[in-house]
Amino acid sequence: MAKNRLTTEEFKNGILAGEKSVLGRAITLVESKSVDDRKLANALVNSILPYTGKSFRLGITGAPGVGKSTFIDGFGEFLLNIDKKVAVLAIDPSSKISGGSILGDKTRMEKLVGKPNVFIRPSPAGIELGGVAQSTLESILLCEAAGYDFVVVETVGVGQSETAVKEMTDMLLFLSIAGAGDDLQGIKRGIMEMIDLVVINKSDQIEKEILGEVKSNFAHALHLFPPRAAKPDVEILSCSALNATGFDEIGQFISSYHQKVSRNGFFEENRKAQKISWMNRSLIHLVENHIQNNDKLKVNVQKFESLVSDNKLSPLDAARQIFELLNLV
Ligand code: GDP
Repeated sequence: MAKNRLTTEEFKNGILAGEKSVLGRAITLVESKSVDDRKLANALVNSILPYTGKSFRLGITGAPGVGKSTFIDGFGEFLLNIDKKVAVLAIDPSSKISGGSILGDKTRMEKLVGKPNVFIRPSPAGIELGGVAQSTLESILLCEAAGYDFVVVETVGVGQSETAVKEMTDMLLFLSIAGAGDDLQGIKRGIMEMIDLVVINKSDQIEKEILGEVKSNFAHALHLFPPRAAKPDVEILSCSALNATGFDEIGQFISSYHQKVSRNGFFEENRKAQKISWMNRSLIHLVENHIQNNDKLKVNVQKFESLVSDNKLSPLDAARQIFELLNLV
């Protein structure tokens, strides 16, 4: 690691002072896989915990091409105009490959880039989802400590990453477009249940009747789910991210959502449950890594894999026996 590495205290002070360059370096630190960096990262994240938690965390998902980066750019500007400090993070590990290298290519967020109250962090490339998700969670905390009160976490609609985003944000916005034929088929049932707000983008290209039809299809699909006691019912709104229309309604919905879940206690309860869930996720991740990094264990696990695939041992019993080995090796 570089000689001019900052101490925990220097990192902390820089972050609390809202210095973007220090925040950027701190995020690089939490993304690092080196053991020394991890130690420093742990100390840093623990030290800034008292200054975290005060933002609204918005998750945004949707297929490539629906306009997520355009939306974040436009809606981000809308948020700046109502005096928010906006941080934008991405959780998609494959964004570079899928061509949706949204945040990596900063020119695609022209309105936000370089603005004083904006922090944009490209998606880390080339690490597996588990690692990406955890570093994104810590990045959220670092952004909050740096004073960002609106954190947007973006993901491309690919299974697991949506669950991860759901588990680190307060609200999940699903961005879609009309007429692509994938409005509903493209959404797996599991994702539908996670969504808090649907926004049909590119309304400038859609005829009114068709927009009405798309909205009622969504409404129909969403009504198959039970009413939500703690959270406002899912709303289906539309916008043109390109022309910056429809943002008022979206802003209003988010604000009334935030108010409702804050008043009824769901906001805090959900945040607490999320933290516990991340602790457990992380534990599983550590056990998996421990096995992968220990040659003796790895060989044993491979033996169990053969036994299980040849029907000589039940999968559950194999897991139990591997678990017992963990205590010994
Ligand atoms: P992402 O892959 O979901 O991040 O999508 P992008 O933000 O990169 O947008 C994909 C394409 O759709 C770009 O050419 C955008 O200019 C275009 N686009 C995004 N929003 C709108 C919109 O509201 N109206 C129109 N007409 N085009 C849009």
